[in-house]
Parts: sequence; structure tokens; C-alpha cells
Amino acid sequence: MVDGTIFEYKAAHDYFVLISRWKRLARLSGVPLKKICEADGYPVYGFISEVFDSRGIYLSSGIHGDEPAGAWALLEWTESKMELLRLRPFFIFPCLNPWGFNENSRCDRQNIDLNRRWLNSKTITTKAVSEKMENLRVLLAVNLHEDYDANGIYLYEASAGKKRDCFANEILNAGKELMPIDTRKKIEGRWSRDGVIRPHANSLPKEGTPEAVFLQKQGAERIFVFETPSEYDLHLRVKTQVNMLERAVSEIL
Ligand SMILES: [Zn+2]
Repeated sequence: MVDGTIFEYKAAHDYFVLISRWKRLARLSGVPLKKICEADGYPVYGFISEVFDSRGIYLSSGIHGDEPAGAWALLEWTESKMELLRLRPFFIFPCLNPWGFNENSRCDRQNIDLNRRWLNSKTITTKAVSEKMENLRVLLAVNLHEDYDANGIYLYEASAGKKRDCFANEILNAGKELMPIDTRKKIEGRWSRDGVIRPHANSLPKEGTPEAVFLQKQGAERIFVFETPSEYDLHLRVKTQVNMLERAVSEIL
């Protein structure tokens, strides 16, 4: 660690450095870090608390290996929540595409976009996560992503309950302290309003089902997909995602 920063730039795409920090966190918090499967020769982990008496918080990152800020933000945020980890159920998947993370690749070794394989033709990893989540109840789910041609931060909201409150905007406002909101009217071909995209069921990717839709079908109440612009400084992107995550989770505590 360099003073004041959570990792060195050269470690940004080092899966084993990332996981060594999660292992340390598991030791300190008592929450087990368990291998859920092996994909492309790498172990994939789940950090799942053993408190099951209420609805939990599902957090994941690294499904697209070329979007590293999410993975480091998830680690940094969780490291700051040692007490909370013992009180609430957490279902955390620190990095769902380890090979891609190490290789700075969106897809896995077989050139598969894992974020399109959550319903039909599941991969080893999406199948393992689905099995882990069977019978678990999710109150809030956040998937951390990045976008290389974004002008600023934005997010997707996929709410099963069709709630149209200001929660999504408040999350973006928490990030706006460090990074502007992408205010384009259309982002990735979808209508966006003040950085919030609420995709219609009929505008989902034709290539296959994303993680957020799997979570929706699984019954998660609030689902957000965060996006930071990956042309910005990495440390700033990490801090921004941490702030947004903090805002999202604090709302439901
Ligand atoms: Zn992504």
C-alpha cells in the first residue's frame, strides 16, 4: 500500500493481490471467503456471511475484467464495514471473471461475456452464483461496472417493485462530489435521464440475460448497476464507486 491509497496502480489488474486482501478481510471479520468454482484456471470466490435471519445485500464486481474500479471499490468499502458484516447478511462476489481481470479483458478466456449468461446457457461461474443464491432473499443488489466511453457516472435501475423514487439520483449525487454525472439523453442505446437508465423488459440485450435481470427474477427488491467512466483516474473511480455504494447501502440500514 502507498500512503493514503488503497493499492498501487501496477496491481490494478492483479487478481491475486486483490484476493489476498479479501483473505485478510475474511480473517479479520470472521466472514468466510469460499471458493465457489474454478473458471479458466482461477478460483472464483464468494464472501457470504452466515447471518440469514433477514434479507441480505448482494454485491458483485469484476464480471467484466477490463472494469477494475468496481472490484477495488467493493474491497475498500467492505473493509470499512467490519461491524456491519457481523450484523447483516451479505452475499458478496469480489471478482466474477478472474482471468479477464488479470488480462484486462471484458470477456473470459473463451471470449464469452459472462454478463449475458445468467439465464440460458449459464457458465460455470454464473451457475455457481445462481446455486449459492438459491433460497436467499435479497433486499438490495449492486453490480459494479465501468464504461470506457462514458462522459461521467451513470447507473441502471432494475426495480422489481416499479418504485420511481429519488434513490437512484441520490446515489449519483453521492458520486458527483468526485465525478460528473453523464447527462446524455441516450447512453448505450437506451434512454437516460440525469444519468439514470431504467431499461424496459423488451429492451434487454439480445445476446443473453445480464446479472441484474437474474437478480430481478430472483426477487431482489432494489437493483442497481453502477458505471464509472474508465478514462478517468483509477483511484478517483474507486473513490466514486465507494461513495455511491455507501449511499446505496446506508439507505436500507
Ligand atoms: Zn461492465
